[in-house]
Amino acid sequence: MTQWHTGNIVRIEDASPTTKRFWLEVEGLERFDFKAGQFITMDLPIGERRNQRWRSYSIASAPPSVSSVGVTLSHADTMNTIELCIVHLDDGLASGWLFNEAKIGTAIKFKGPDGTFTLPETIENELVLICTGTGVAPFRSMILEVFNQKIPHRGIHLIFGTRTAEGILYQQELEELAQKMPGFRYSVALSREVREGCHHGYVHDIYLKDYAKKRPDVTFYLCGWTKMVDEAVANLIVKMGYERGQVKYELYG
Ligand SMILES: Cc1cc2nc3c(=O)[nH]c(=O)nc-3n(C[C@H](O)[C@H](O)[C@H](O)COP(=O)(O)OP(=O)(O)OC[C@H]3O[C@@H](n4cnc5c(N)ncnc54)[C@H](O)[C@@H]3O)c2cc1C
Repeated sequence: MTQWHTGNIVRIEDASPTTKRFWLEVEGLERFDFKAGQFITMDLPIGERRNQRWRSYSIASAPPSVSSVGVTLSHADTMNTIELCIVHLDDGLASGWLFNEAKIGTAIKFKGPDGTFTLPETIENELVLICTGTGVAPFRSMILEVFNQKIPHRGIHLIFGTRTAEGILYQQELEELAQKMPGFRYSVALSREVREGCHHGYVHDIYLKDYAKKRPDVTFYLCGWTKMVDEAVANLIVKMGYERGQVKYELYG
């Protein structure tokens, strides 16, 4: 049965000129459990009908967990708090409401967690995580989960794309993780700015080159808006010859 919760906004921070991080504390629960990569669906006061009001958002923080020494490792302050990373779309009803009306203390009704865009039980393949913009949210959760839980893996490559450097999300944290997490590689593609250390172009250029030689031991995860995801699915399956089962995706719209 669908479980509805109330989340109270406890913190809001700018992540880029068009993107904010929202922290929701779930009322009445000591911990809010979910799998890295899952999403919640919020019922927002932006329409009369249910299908006008519901919007889904990936959870960007790691699942709550306690280390062997009792330290909270949720990266979202407390075990019942989740972080969302939301972009403001021009004329977007929900994102407009969240950016202009929602504030600290605002209560939001939501259901979830839902979704199967999650890590496998045992990570047997190298994971290539490809995203643009806020599509990084589920991947941040997965990467933090692997790091927190010291989950054995075969290499994780995050390929993040945006237009200019000011749109890079979680850059410092991900760069630090690339230094201290063995086997984690972080690539950034900027389509409209030349910047040292970043690829000038699209996310597609990076995996087309790095995984050109077809390998059975790689799984691609794609997350974001239709155009990027459709293009990547076509490249990987049709152009590069990867199996359908090696390509998983989450579409934002
Ligand atoms: C499983 C899932 C997880 C999601 N997770 C996130 C998340 O973590 N963060 C996040 O910001 N969003 C996420 N989304 C998208 C989110 O649910 C909303 O669709 C988004 O916030 C836009 O809603 P809106 O009401 O502001 O726009 P609407 O009023 O619904 O209008 C959006 C319209 O603009 C189009 N559109 C506009 N701009 C773009 C753009 N840059 N790129 C693409 N399409 C555009 C859309 O196709 C649509 O027609 C997720 C969606 C799904 C299904």
